[in-house]
Amino acid sequence: MTEGTFQNIIYSRKTRSDRVKNLRILTVSSETTPFAKTGGLADVAGALSSALAKRGNEVTLLMPYYKEVKKKDLKVEETGISLEVVFSGRSEKASLLRHNLADGLNVYFIAHDRYYERDELYGDSTGDYQDNAERFIFFCRAVLAAGRLIGNKIDIVHCHDWQTGLIPLYIREERMDGGGFWKDTASVFTLHNIAYQGNFWHYDLDLTGLPWSYYTPEGIEFYGEISLLKAGLVYADKITTVSKRYAQEVQTGDFGYRLEGIISSRKKDLAGILNGVDYREWSPETDKLIRKNYSREDLSGKRECKRELMEIFSLESGRDRPIIGFISRLAQQKGVDILIEAVPEIVGLGASLVVLGKGEQHYGQQLRELAREFPGRVGVRITFDNDLAHKIEAGCDMFIMPSRYEPCGLNQMYSLRYGTVPIVKATGGLDDTIREFNPGTRKGNGFKFKGHELRNMLKKIGEAIDLYRNKKLWETVMRNGMEEDFSWDSSARKYERLYRKAQKELVNK
Ligand code: ADP
Repeated sequence: MTEGTFQNIIYSRKTRSDRVKNLRILTVSSETTPFAKTGGLADVAGALSSALAKRGNEVTLLMPYYKEVKKKDLKVEETGISLEVVFSGRSEKASLLRHNLADGLNVYFIAHDRYYERDELYGDSTGDYQDNAERFIFFCRAVLAAGRLIGNKIDIVHCHDWQTGLIPLYIREERMDGGGFWKDTASVFTLHNIAYQGNFWHYDLDLTGLPWSYYTPEGIEFYGEISLLKAGLVYADKITTVSKRYAQEVQTGDFGYRLEGIISSRKKDLAGILNGVDYREWSPETDKLIRKNYSREDLSGKRECKRELMEIFSLESGRDRPIIGFISRLAQQKGVDILIEAVPEIVGLGASLVVLGKGEQHYGQQLRELAREFPGRVGVRITFDNDLAHKIEAGCDMFIMPSRYEPCGLNQMYSLRYGTVPIVKATGGLDDTIREFNPGTRKGNGFKFKGHELRNMLKKIGEAIDLYRNKKLWETVMRNGMEEDFSWDSSARKYERLYRKAQKELVNK
């Protein structure tokens, strides 16, 4: 293995006159765009890492080498590093592969076929994989081993979600032992969705290699199980969530999923930093996946995109008939159930609906039935299809997000850029990014409803459809949205500030 993959400390001359030391950051995520994705976590891990690298930091990304990654036509190099991970009383071997992305971002994959060579990332239609505890405890331990072998010291390890939750704990352990490779590394843990907790049978603690003294309410015990998410929340030096509003919400009983007490106790170390949008992927001016490009100045291409969508879903045309889009994991969180309930009335209000989703089977079945019941007005695809997601963003007039809770939400931000007006429930990142349109002042970028009742959502959809019939005002709300800028650079700066604070506090400890 080539020691020193990280270069020596580099100093940025271009952007900062005070010669601030750039950071060496290790990002660890169980999924990352463009390699493997089931949701927003992948977009964030990929785009944030690129934004940080572009700002001059040395960023290395680590993730499992899934079948989905193998299928991609990537130039993946062998590093020659084999990892020996002492795990569950035995030693498991894995190898480390490398791929170089643009912007100086190094990506390393942990290859272990028995754990990761599967059709899906976390489970199949029958549920989660039975050995997920083993798969991701192994991953955390392998990351610790890989970090040491990849190169020089790491300033920050940034872990995402429960699959990486043990890493801050292992680092804390090394520090307590007084030395070790990780002793000067500060850990940051980002919570993307508190409902996904990585809770497992308590005897799985044996897999972690940790002593049973961690099996306490102050440690990683959680209602008779162990929780890997809790490990991250308790032991990371800093915690973040993906919007300011969600950072407040998770401290309450309504949204905290029994972890509200733990999070409140760490309030001082908690920050809400809104996710950004990767506008290289999501811009109607340059998007290669849509029929015709368009811009805020020239919206004509959007009509072509709408036509394409109508062809794809065999939708009836009709003057003044808006198309409402919905792209989502089919999970209760996303309010799929209230959308399903609302479909006859949405059709009755004169709109058409297109749905792209994958997830719980019963939702898929109900949606397919609705497509049969309302041919020409309701189009449904039950699959994961990124190309189609782009076409829906471009071709729709409105985008609906009735999420029960939404840590950040990306589709409302994509929709804004595509002039597809969001109608959202006022929660989490949806509340932080969408401002109700006021026809009097002509300010605002979308529609927002409070509470999760069907009638509140339908009332807002009705208001949006009424406004849609006033072409002038409709173009104003579209253009207001297209003007918004949620680019990653400003979020990356906020993370950088947080990383430096974490480092400083670690040195002063
Ligand atoms: P979450 O991470 O909770 O699933 P987000 O809104 O943060 O929700 O991110 C979801 C991301 O996944 C978006 O980029 C969205 O477009 C994409 N997505 C979700 N479901 C599908 C699907 N069936 N096909 C294509 N893209 C999808």
